[in-house]
This record gives sequence, structure tokens and C-alpha cells, in this order.
Amino acid sequence: MENNHIEIWRECLKVIKDNTQEQAFKTWFKPIVPVSLKDNILTIQVPSQFFYEWLEEHYIDLLRTTIKKVLGDSGKLEYKIIMDSSDNSYTMVLPGSSRGNTKNPIGRAPVENLSQNIVNPFIIPGLRKLQIDSQLNENYTFDNFVEGECNRVARQGGLEVAKNPGKTVFNPLLIYSGTGLGKTHLCHAIGNEIKRLYPQKTVLYVQAEQFLNQWATASKNNNQNDFVHFYQMIDVIIIDDIQFLAKKPSTQDVFFHIFNYLHQNNKQLVITSDKLPADLKDIAPRLLSRFKWGLTTDLQMPDADTRTAILRNKLYNNGIVFPDEIISYLATNVRTNVRELEGVLISLVAQSSLNKKAVTIDLAQNIIERFIRNSVKEVSVEYIINMVCEYFSISPEQMALNTRKHQVVQARQIAMYLSKKYSSASLNSIGQQCGKKDHATVYHACKTVSDRLETDKQFKMMLADIEKKMAI
Ligand code: ADP
Ligand code: MG
Repeated sequence: MENNHIEIWRECLKVIKDNTQEQAFKTWFKPIVPVSLKDNILTIQVPSQFFYEWLEEHYIDLLRTTIKKVLGDSGKLEYKIIMDSSDNSYTMVLPGSSRGNTKNPIGRAPVENLSQNIVNPFIIPGLRKLQIDSQLNENYTFDNFVEGECNRVARQGGLEVAKNPGKTVFNPLLIYSGTGLGKTHLCHAIGNEIKRLYPQKTVLYVQAEQFLNQWATASKNNNQNDFVHFYQMIDVIIIDDIQFLAKKPSTQDVFFHIFNYLHQNNKQLVITSDKLPADLKDIAPRLLSRFKWGLTTDLQMPDADTRTAILRNKLYNNGIVFPDEIISYLATNVRTNVRELEGVLISLVAQSSLNKKAVTIDLAQNIIERFIRNSVKEVSVEYIINMVCEYFSISPEQMALNTRKHQVVQARQIAMYLSKKYSSASLNSIGQQCGKKDHATVYHACKTVSDRLETDKQFKMMLADIEKKMAI
């Protein structure tokens, strides 16, 4: 019978409908078009590669049992994926196909042609699809990102990526650091440089939180495919603060697919995180393992010389002249992060010009005290080590020694625990600063201390005492 496939698919839909939620049914099964039925193989047409992957990942069991039920044991399902208007479709057999040995059509997808109807908030209405708002801040460039020991690898890696997006081994480029150390600046610098060198490339900077919200909206409005198509059109995607995807499995899923697609098509991915990927909790391992494919590098707090250079750079760019002693005073005394360094500088300029006061060390000191006190407490590992050592009457050098002496071990474990709790440093960086230990040791220390806090009242009081001394 000629139209048998339509009948059969209708039967399948009945089974599927009974076994899926209404919204999912509408999104993932309604758009499927049955194409043919031959040799007990039902061929269905799906709108995109992403659609196929999603089905395979989330509904393969359901499809398998449905086909068995409707076509019997020998029944098979084949997909036809619409690639574009020309006859570029390909087929893939299911079930029985594993993704590893299937033909991968991704490289052939002329994605541009799919884009006409894409609805996306970034697209400037009335313009062709490649004219997207890159969301780049032009003020953040490589020129004004001062290089130092603290950021050399990340900055150079970023420059390489900008010169040859998608063509270096740095894909993805993953940059991690505590807050205020230049991740976002570097992201924009990379994006701006690529736009400068390759104006035709589609570059998009997006905060992970924004990505998350867009996906939620797309899911609510049933626009998942538009969302994915939009992201698949990008040549360079820069996702800032990926830690926001923690505990969001559905967003991680879709990002995983987009990541794969872009990576396979030699598109560039740049990702930032507030911690080492290994320390990112609640992100799917398969996504974390992808992050390791390229270059993972961190940004450290700049040393005093680099802090001086950053201050000079900011002043120069704003046409302001400060006495050298003030610059070196600021560079020596603001040790939290670059954002605070900048904040103190701006306050100082504002104060002196508003109140017509001369810029003096006194004024600088005054502002630092107020600024640092008023800012969210961002405590450094170094500060914590000093306070803990003081409490136990040992020196930081003793604490770093490789000894089993109870008091030293205890001090070190407490310093690690408090650093994890109060600083934004990664486990790795905490370990390095507490006697060159690895991140597993820090993890173990944190666990030991928190276990003991639950069972040992005296220990708990001691810790509260240390915390009080630290004035956190
Ligand atoms: P993060 O994203 O890591 O929290 P940002 O990129 O927002 O940090 O940086 C905070 C501020 O510090 C920004 O204004 C940025 O321009 C400045 N900054 C950080 N590192 C540098 C640097 N190496 N040179 C110049 N400015 C820097
Ligand atoms: Mg940032």
C-alpha cells in the first residue's frame, strides 16, 4: 500500500503520545514527517541534526519499543534529516546504530540556508541573519589588557585563538580564575580582535546565565530548534561564567550538542569559569571532559609590578597623571583583585576632583580602608594562612613543611577549609599555597574538617574563634 508509512507512523504516534508529556510530544514528535516504509523499515524525516541527536538521546528507548510494537521484531527506523533545500539529506539506521560508527553529516550541513526563519533576540530585525549583535564591549581589548606573569599563558592563548579562530589546538580555550581578575575583559578582547581581523566572522559573546535564560524561554515557547540553529550559525562563541550551568541538566544538554556541532565544524569556543573544571560541581562529566580538549589556563592575582603597570595603563588611557608614590602605594596595598584595584583608583580620582583635594597618600589610605571594608569580603588564601598560623603560633613556612606533626597538619587542614569557604581560589590554587599540595589533598582536608565540625564540639568552638579573629 502506497500510504502505509503514514498509517504506521500514526500508529506509532499513538503509542508515543501515551508515553510522553504533551509538551514533549508536540515539540519532538509532531514535526516528524513519515517518508516511506520499505522492507519493514520506516523512514521518518526530522528537521535537523540537532533534532535527531535529541531524539536519539532522550527517546531512543521509546522509539525502539514503539517500532517493535507496531512493526514487530524485524521493524527498523531510519531517519532522514533535512539539511537544506537541495537534496543533501542522508539516512541513518536506528535501532542498532551506535553513534560511534554512524556516518556523521555535520560537516556537510549548509547551516546558513536554514537560517531564514530563525527567531532570536540577538538578530537585528530586518538584517540578514549573519548580522547579529556580538554583544562585545569595545573598551576591552588586548591593548589595554596588561600582560604579566599572572596571565601570560591565558593572554597569549587568547591572542593565538584570535589570530586563527577554530584553527589552533586551543579549542575550546577555557580560562578560569577568581572574581575580578580579568576573565570577562579577556573574552571581549578575543572577540574584538577576531572581529577586527575577520570582519565576516560571526562572533557572539554570551553570559552563561543569559544562555540559560534563553534556553528556558525557548523551551517554554517551543522554539528549541530555532535556539539551536541560531547557536550553530556562530563562528566564534564566547561563553562567560560557565559555572552558571551547574545543576541545569537540560541547558547542559543543549550546550553539549551545540559544543559538539561547533567543534566538529572547526568553530572556536571560548569558555570562562570561576574555578578549575575539575572543581565545577554539578556539571555533567561528558561536558567537563570536552572542556579539556583544548587549552585550560588560569588568571592569577597580578604581582605588585603588574598591578603598577595596570594602574599606569588605566591612568594613561584616561589622560590622568598621578604621582608615582601614589601609584606604588595603591599597587602595594590593594591585593584582593584587579576590579578592586580599579575601584580604588576611580574613587580616588572622583574624591580628589569632587572635593578639590590633592591626591595624597592619606586620601589614598582613607579610600582603601573604606573601599575594602565596604566591598564584599574577598579574602585571600595568604591572609587566611597568616591568621591560622598566628592562632596556632607557627610560621607559614612551618605550615608548609611536609610533616606529620599533629598541630601543623591540623593548622594546614583548617587553613585549606577556610580558604575554600572564604576565598574564591580553586582547590588547586589553595593546595599550591598551603605547602604545594594537590587538589585532592585539599578536598580531603575540607571533608575532614567539616566531618569533625559535626562531631567535635570543642573543635567547632576553636574554629569559630579563628573565624572571629579573622573578622570575616
Ligand atoms: P572577571 O571577569 O574575572 O571577574 P573582569 O574581566 O571583569 O574580571 O575584570 C575586572 C576589571 O579588572 C575589569 O575592569 C578589567 O578591565 C580589569 N582588569 C583585569 N585584569 C586586567 C589586566 N591584566 N589589565 C588591565 N585591566 C585588567
Ligand atoms: Mg566576569
